[in-house]
Amino acid sequence: MQLRPLFVIYRGLRSFTTKTELIQYLATVKTSGKTIGLVPTMGALHQGHLSLIKQAQQQSDVVVCSIFVNPTQFGDPADLEKYPRPIKSDTEKLEQVNCDVLFNPPVEEMYAGNEQWHLNIGELENLLEGGSRPGHYQGVTQVVFKLFDIIKPDTAFFGQKDYQQFLVIKHMVEQLHLPLQLIMCPIQREPDGLAMSSRNIHLNADDRQHALVLSKTLNGVKDTFDVSKIAALKQQAEETIKNEPDVELAYFEIADADNLHPAGVSTKNVVALVAAKVGNTRLIDNVIIKDE
Ligand code: AMP
Repeated sequence: MQLRPLFVIYRGLRSFTTKTELIQYLATVKTSGKTIGLVPTMGALHQGHLSLIKQAQQQSDVVVCSIFVNPTQFGDPADLEKYPRPIKSDTEKLEQVNCDVLFNPPVEEMYAGNEQWHLNIGELENLLEGGSRPGHYQGVTQVVFKLFDIIKPDTAFFGQKDYQQFLVIKHMVEQLHLPLQLIMCPIQREPDGLAMSSRNIHLNADDRQHALVLSKTLNGVKDTFDVSKIAALKQQAEETIKNEPDVELAYFEIADADNLHPAGVSTKNVVALVAAKVGNTRLIDNVIIKDE
């Protein structure tokens, strides 16, 4: 990687909607020996996304942010339909943080037709998020593979917010020997603890308050964690969330951070993960409890 000069001349955001033009431009970047960092997103950008871009800027010469609401990872057509797509304000945010490249393709540019895809991602496919959202991780790996293939980044940056997604992508990279490094970036939160999410705009004022039960419960488990009380902590957490009005718990798990199996007394790395519907909005969150 080249060291960034002290004063970088920012040449503005280069925006691409086609693979061909993006590949052509990135060829010039690679020829000049610069490294490429990729931040894949579905847009409706918030500080969580922008923190990934900042981290990518520290570790790469040229940062590409992709914005693509990937249809193959949505099980529910209504969810896909209502996913926010504020591309004008997203572009302004990317300009404000001096992002180098935006890739914002239409669906036809990413999918030629009804493509069949199946990657063996093992148990992660059906655990937790995978269990709640059948087919979700096949859609995620499909689009992330395509983005890696088009952009060929040296490093790709993902959020801890989607913890299981990170493990799934790591599995894909290892399985297919993809020549890139993955970085997991910390969860950005609102001052009251709610994990930032593009879906938070769907929360009404009451939902917004009820949603706090998720981060509060996760932190409670972290603060009182004791390997000999995992079952009791999990049960207590589930009850707390179920007792919150307008919150429908999908799962709460205290898991081995490496494979998401339920944690036991000898588990080295532990993560607590939750998914719940708050009002009509499905939210996920997690906290790393032990990382040896
Ligand atoms: P999305 O647009 O929701 O697909 O997210 C794009 C990337 O941003 C993923 O790697 C997410 O894990 C990450 N991300 C989403 N929310 C946050 C957050 N609150 N803090 C850090 N990263 C996040």
